[in-house]
Amino acid sequence: MSRIRLNTLDPSFKHRVAQQRGGEGIRACFGCKACTAACPIEVVEKRYDPRKIIRMALLGMKKEVLESDFIWLCSSCYGCHEVCPQNVRFTEVMFAIKNLAVAEACVPPGLTGQKTLLKAHGRLYEVTDFENEKREKLGLPRIVEHPEDYERLLHSRETES
Ligand code: SF4
Ligand code: SF4
Repeated sequence: MSRIRLNTLDPSFKHRVAQQRGGEGIRACFGCKACTAACPIEVVEKRYDPRKIIRMALLGMKKEVLESDFIWLCSSCYGCHEVCPQNVRFTEVMFAIKNLAVAEACVPPGLTGQKTLLKAHGRLYEVTDFENEKREKLGLPRIVEHPEDYERLLHSRETES
């Protein structure tokens, strides 16, 4: 187990998370681990442990949390939310933490690439003639892309958060 260096901790980090929309419940956590037991991601990836992430955030391990790749593994299934006796709303705490990571430019390159695709195509891949011809054979309408709408929608979400 790696040691925690006290002089690298940021005691204000938990307050910053709590100030984000969805992050308000973080300080109510009493560490019971019910969220971890309910989490399907933790079953397949032991580095992803909801209770541990909350403890790290409460301790002020800002850098370790925001720069980690595991915070992006949450599937937003709300399983942790359902079982929490303290109404921490951990799924939304994760949204708050991820928003802070974006604000501090700690985003994995793969996610940045996904955002570029969303802006251009409104989905995570480009719909070409190949896909549209297959759709037509199945009696489905062609998909016409509207990049200006996708850009406007993403921009409105960014300014909301
Ligand atoms: S279930 Fe709730 S109170 Fe228990 S560790 Fe998880 S977030 Fe904290
Ligand atoms: S919302 Fe995220 S943290 Fe909560 S149980 Fe689902 S995958 Fe785990």
